Amino acid sequence: MKPEGRGQETGADVIVMGGGFHGTSSAFHLARRGAKVILLEAEYCARHASGVNAGGVRTLGRHYAEVPLARASLDLWHRLPELLGEDATFVCSGQLQIAETPAELEKLKRRVADLTALGFTHEVIVDAKAVHELAPALTPHQVGGIWVKDDGHAVPYRAVTAFRHAAQRLGAAFHETTPAQTVERVGDRWRVTTPRGVFSAPWLVNAAGAWAGDFAAQVGEPVAMKPGGLMLMITQRIPHFIDPVLGAAGRPLSFKQFANGTVLIGGGLRCGADVVARHGEVDFMKLSTSAQTVTDLFPHLKGVGINRAWAGVEAFMPDEIPVISLSKKAPNLVHAFGFSAHGFELGPIGGQIVSELVLDGRSTQPIAPFAVDRFGLATAQESVLLNAKRAKDSHTVQ
Ligand SMILES: Cc1cc2nc3c(=O)[nH]c(=O)nc-3n(C[C@H](O)[C@H](O)[C@H](O)COP(=O)(O)OP(=O)(O)OC[C@H]3O[C@@H](n4cnc5c(N)ncnc54)[C@H](O)[C@@H]3O)c2cc1C
Repeated sequence: MKPEGRGQETGADVIVMGGGFHGTSSAFHLARRGAKVILLEAEYCARHASGVNAGGVRTLGRHYAEVPLARASLDLWHRLPELLGEDATFVCSGQLQIAETPAELEKLKRRVADLTALGFTHEVIVDAKAVHELAPALTPHQVGGIWVKDDGHAVPYRAVTAFRHAAQRLGAAFHETTPAQTVERVGDRWRVTTPRGVFSAPWLVNAAGAWAGDFAAQVGEPVAMKPGGLMLMITQRIPHFIDPVLGAAGRPLSFKQFANGTVLIGGGLRCGADVVARHGEVDFMKLSTSAQTVTDLFPHLKGVGINRAWAGVEAFMPDEIPVISLSKKAPNLVHAFGFSAHGFELGPIGGQIVSELVLDGRSTQPIAPFAVDRFGLATAQESVLLNAKRAKDSHTVQ
């Protein structure tokens, strides 16, 4: 590692902590606008949630505050080959959310009416016949659903890697197996210590996923973020039977069949996570409930083998929307974390917002709902204790 004129420190314009989708996308968008970027990743890029998720590129069913960002991100997903110069594996399959009862359909109709009033028309109510045409293998008891034709899916590790390659081509320096340990503001620069040396820059981006709370706490800005695990399982290859990604209004489900025939089954299946050991813990009892949902809806899948199950570590906020925000406590610091099980779709726009906050001081997207200080002091105080304990534990193992 070559020092750049500041003693033993390696310098840049911006240091990004975390090589998940949001860190990698931030590095790309910043480098694209001419910033000199150093990205520090504790393990390897896309090692955690960003590389092991279900790959759902879903604007359907978003929290209303997220809808503008999700739609802007989807626009980028559709243009990624041109933007990155590389295929990011996006498949525009559409996403369908089914209603199994009239009450569920009523709820979906109210949502679509709300969205229309807000000026969004991408979610469309479909009747039972249309559901059957979109997914003929489903049991016939569906009463309707919501259809978003331009949603889809992508291969997570390959999508993040496409952003990483594009950032590197633009000059961003990626340092893997280089965990940030301490961050401090010294004069007009951030100083980040790692086992591989000290890095410094005027700007710092905290995109450390489920570990981001440690850095927020270090700068005196504790957050009410909690790490947790999420699980997925994948079947053996079976003949093609469905194109869209499928969700359900009344029960947890996210379901897709890849071109190679395997079927990925998830849907916000929560499990434990050990942030010190840095892994999620698969809960096979919960997975069996999910398998039951799938065979209720697709009886022909009874007896199909599950090849693999795994768990990833995700950062959850109490209101299940992320923090994407300039720090309210420290200068030249941007937080982007807490994506609460649906941050993959937001990856392309998340990095663009971070680049705008760093380079323009504001974003063109409506990000007020994602402010870092939106929770009360009491929650923040609880969180500071939790984060301080975690920081102590994780520094012990590093
Ligand atoms: C099983 C599962 C299924 C999911 N399915 C979907 C889906 O279908 N659609 C969707 O939109 N979202 C989905 N998500 C959510 C999505 O994956 C996450 O919201 C998103 O990837 C978060 O990205 P991130 O960059 O914030 O965090 P991460 O991917 O966790 O990246 C953070 C990075 O920071 C690094 N880091 C930690 N500490 C340090 C340190 N001290 N120094 C340097 N680096 C550090 C970590 O090693 C990690 O690589 C799913 C998540 C999981 C786990």
